[in-house]
Amino acid sequence: MSETILPGTAAPWRATVLTLYPEMFPGPLGHSLSGDALGRGTWSLEPRQIREHGLGRHRNVDDTPAGGGAGMVLRCDVLGAAIDAAAPADDPRPRLLMSPRGRPLTQDRVRALAEGPGAIIVCGRFEGVDERVIEARALEEVSIGDYVLSGGEIAAVVLIDACVRLLPGVMGKHASGVEESFEGGLLEYPHYTRPREWEGRTIPDVLMGGNHAAIVRWRAEQSRALTRARRPDLLKRDEP
Ligand code: SAH
Repeated sequence: MSETILPGTAAPWRATVLTLYPEMFPGPLGHSLSGDALGRGTWSLEPRQIREHGLGRHRNVDDTPAGGGAGMVLRCDVLGAAIDAAAPADDPRPRLLMSPRGRPLTQDRVRALAEGPGAIIVCGRFEGVDERVIEARALEEVSIGDYVLSGGEIAAVVLIDACVRLLPGVMGKHASGVEESFEGGLLEYPHYTRPREWEGRTIPDVLMGGNHAAIVRWRAEQSRALTRARRPDLLKRDEP
């Protein structure tokens, strides 16, 4: 008899987060879709305190930047030890470092991560982390946008949330996100719900007419127009 994997018995998607603020987790991830899925065991979350690998009586984790300058830098020896303790060398999960210098996170990358076994996510603080640990532990730098946060924790929450909602069963009857913004390379069309009229504004007639083909066409046109107006760069990415 061949082995069958029953729905819900697949190995959970595993997130390990290295941080100086483990109490920030699960935070928003403990609520709504991601929180319910966490409770059901669809995914697991292991926040780990980097300071446990800190040096001396004060468990120091940072030091002044070589060459001078403002702020402090996370030490490579401390972070290296924290990474090694969290994930053995044969752990198949990608090792990510949240970083404004990283490749900007996209829905394609999110989908690929969600299809994998999970992620080991390092959250920076202060001015950043010693470059040598990025190289030695082959950390993939990931940015959530062109702005600077005070730490990697919120960025890690963003990345995990985006992945978890794509895991099987998490979004329920919502068609697994296939029609959403970015999935077809376009932004999503506008939504409406009751009441039919509000402050003199009505729902577009086509959506109330019951002509499914016309609705599909209208939504596609709206998607294209919105994308052209707001994110022409996405249309360019579509071109060969
Ligand atoms: N001096 C650094 C910024 C450090 S901000 C620089 O100019 O590149 C402190 C930490 O916040 C970073 O180490 C990183 O982990 C996190 N962070 C800040 N902005 C981020 C962003 N846009 N995406 C992902 N992580 C970010």
